[in-house]
Amino acid sequence: MGRRRPDPAEPVSAWSEKDLLDGEVVDALVIILRSPGCYWSKESGCLMCGYNRESMVTITAENLIAQFTKAMEKHSGQKYIKIYTSGSFLDPKEIYPEARDFILTLAGEKADKILVESRPEFVNDQILKLVLEKVKKLEIAIGLETADDDLRASSINKGFLYDSFERACNTASEHGVDIRTYLILKPPFVSEVESIDDVLASIKKVGKFSQTISINPMNVQRGTVVEGLWKKGLYRPPWLWSLLSVLEQGSKITDTRLVSAPSGGGSRRGVHNCRTCDGKILEAIEKFSLEGNAEVLKGHGCICKKQWMDYLDVEPFVGSTGDLDRLTPPQ
Ligand code: SF4
Ligand SMILES: [Zn+2]
Repeated sequence: MGRRRPDPAEPVSAWSEKDLLDGEVVDALVIILRSPGCYWSKESGCLMCGYNRESMVTITAENLIAQFTKAMEKHSGQKYIKIYTSGSFLDPKEIYPEARDFILTLAGEKADKILVESRPEFVNDQILKLVLEKVKKLEIAIGLETADDDLRASSINKGFLYDSFERACNTASEHGVDIRTYLILKPPFVSEVESIDDVLASIKKVGKFSQTISINPMNVQRGTVVEGLWKKGLYRPPWLWSLLSVLEQGSKITDTRLVSAPSGGGSRRGVHNCRTCDGKILEAIEKFSLEGNAEVLKGHGCICKKQWMDYLDVEPFVGSTGDLDRLTPPQ
C-alpha cells in the first residue's frame, strides 16, 4: 500500500517548545514546511538523510505561503520562530523568493528572532540583506556535521568543505546573524569512540564561529543508506552514554552554548542505552540544553554503562563498526 499523498497546502507540522532567547527560557514556535526538497538530496544526498520523503517536487510558492499561514495559526505570542524546510530556506530554488518574502515578513512582524536552516553555499551578503530587511534577528542553522573534511565526504557525502562553512559564518557575523552549527554523533563507518573524538575536535574548531552548537546523534531514517546498514546489523545508533560524554566533555572545551534534542531518542532507531535508563538521561540532556548546567549530566549510572564501556574498547579491534550485539553469535 502506498503512502497517502500529502496536502501541498498543509505544513508537515507545527508545535511550541522551550528554547533560549537572549539568555531567557521562552516558548519557541517550530514550523516544518513541506518544500520541493533539498537540491543536494536530488543530486546525490547525504547518507543519513530521509528528508526527501517529506518533500514534494510540485510544491509551489503559493503552497508554501498557504502552509506557513496555516502553521501560524499555532502562533500565540512566541517571540522566537524556528522554520525548518528539510533543506535550505535560503536556496531560492527551494523556497521561492515570493514565498520567502511573505514568510519572513509575517514571521518578522510576530517574533523577535527567526531561525532557518541552510547549506553554507546559500549564505551570502545579498540574501542576508534581503532577509534582514524583514526580520529583527536571524539565526542560521548549518549542518556542518563534522569539521573533518574527509569524514564528511566518506561517511556523510555532504558535498561541501569546511572552508565553505567558515566563509558562511564570517559572512553571517558581518551582518550580526547568529550561527547554530549541527554536529553529528556517529555517522556510518566510524566507531563510537572515533565519533566521540571527532565531535569533540569539531566543537573545539567551530566554537568561535557559532553562537550555538547542536549535537545531533544519528537517528536511522527511512529509505537511507544508514537504514540499509542498520537493517543488516552493520550499524548501531550511538549510545546515550556517548552523547552524555560528548556534552559533558564538550562543555569544558568551549564557552559556546551546547545543546542536543535527539530525534528518536530512546528508540531502536535513535540514540539509546537500555530501556531502564534512557528516560532519565534524555531528561538530563533536555535540562542541560535549556539551562547549560553540566552538573545535571553527571552522576548517572546503570547496569548498561559497563556494556557501553566494553563496546568502546572492543569495537576498534573487531574491524567493524557494526552492531556488536547483533553481529556476535550467541555463546
Ligand atoms: S542532510 Fe541536509 S543537505 Fe543533506 S541531503 Fe538532507 S537536507 Fe540536504
Ligand atoms: Zn541502562
